[in-house]
Amino acid sequence: MKVAQMLLDVVVSQMFGENAFIARLEGRDDCLVVDPGFDADRIVQRIEQLGLTPAAILNTHGHADHIAGNRELKQRWPDCPLVIGADEASKLTDPEGNLSGSYGIGLTSPPADRHLRDGDTFQAAGIELEVLATPGHSRGHIVFVYKGASPWIVFGGDVLFQGSVGRADFPDSDPQTLVESIRQKMYSLPDDTIVLPGHGESTTIGQEKQFNPFVRA
Ligand SMILES: [Zn+2]
Repeated sequence: MKVAQMLLDVVVSQMFGENAFIARLEGRDDCLVVDPGFDADRIVQRIEQLGLTPAAILNTHGHADHIAGNRELKQRWPDCPLVIGADEASKLTDPEGNLSGSYGIGLTSPPADRHLRDGDTFQAAGIELEVLATPGHSRGHIVFVYKGASPWIVFGGDVLFQGSVGRADFPDSDPQTLVESIRQKMYSLPDDTIVLPGHGESTTIGQEKQFNPFVRA
């Protein structure tokens, strides 16, 4: 059996240092874009340089730094659906909810084309992803698990970082819920699963189970 190789590009935006991932399968010219941040021009540029067409824009959650590029991508590729967790969708069009209001930016995104829930699968660009609800950092946060490669890959947003965890002091955060999401959802994935977080370097489930100073197995 030949497992299709996932090719990944990351564009890190300035200011909040958020990671936007461009994921595609070898030999295809479509891709997924996960959490396009503030440097939308550079994200669009990279996609164009690679000769790709986005088949979906995925948001792990609705905070401004993860959705700021949605509008520009939708303008460039109007047919590309925008996808987010059902309990997070309202933040796209609500500057207070997406926290941009408190930074004086007042940012809104186009509304979502599709809402996802815990246990859903989502497929685009030949990539099938499993959706896990991981509330705590924000109420409707989801992560996307790709099981088509070995090891598995998780687009993890702001839940579990290398040596850290997502902030849980926002209006709809809950610290205890965040810990439960990490223990019950993230830490039940195989140890060699690669976590691609919303900020900072990638890590693995096994490494964080053993060394994460905030939440151990
Ligand atoms: Zn966030």
